Amino acid sequence: MVLDITKIGHPVLREACRPVSLDELHSEAMQQFIDDLIETKRAANGAGIAAPQVGRAIRIFVVEVKNNPRYPYKPEAPLTICVNPELEFLTEERYLNYEGCLSIPDLRGQVPRCPHIRVKAWDRSGEPFERIVKGITAGTFQHEYDHIEGILFPDRSDPRSFCTWGEFALRQEPAFREHVQRVVAQWGE
Ligand code: ZN
Repeated sequence: MVLDITKIGHPVLREACRPVSLDELHSEAMQQFIDDLIETKRAANGAGIAAPQVGRAIRIFVVEVKNNPRYPYKPEAPLTICVNPELEFLTEERYLNYEGCLSIPDLRGQVPRCPHIRVKAWDRSGEPFERIVKGITAGTFQHEYDHIEGILFPDRSDPRSFCTWGEFALRQEPAFREHVQRVVAQWGE
């Protein structure tokens, strides 16, 4: 089922979300919720989505990038479901990512992101996994992780970089595509 996406101004987007217990994760209701979260992300063409974006203050997010019309320049990323995730930054380096958010219609802004991170989380069955994520995809994981901490991308942006999606396509996208290629060439994702 496609769920309603909460928009900036909704207090659930500002909550530090609570962890999910194994029992809760194994429940039919939570497994259905994860299916709904994935379906909602796909229906909205998001690169990722976090539980508070559909009104639940719990520590779950999903990342998946495949032929994405909202972000045509993003490298593909397989479907990854992260329950109770932890991120570790593995370099002091930062690059500027031009981000958007399903919960913030028609706004984009530049956000400094770490291009080399370790993600530790449970998968949807509660099995722990660990992954190194780099480059642009690492930025997507940080964006989604911020959601479960109640942080939205404008909190981390220089407001002077804000633009609408139309202005972005018109004025920023060609240069940003080149920037993305450089980040991918350096970091591999
Ligand atoms: Zn978002």
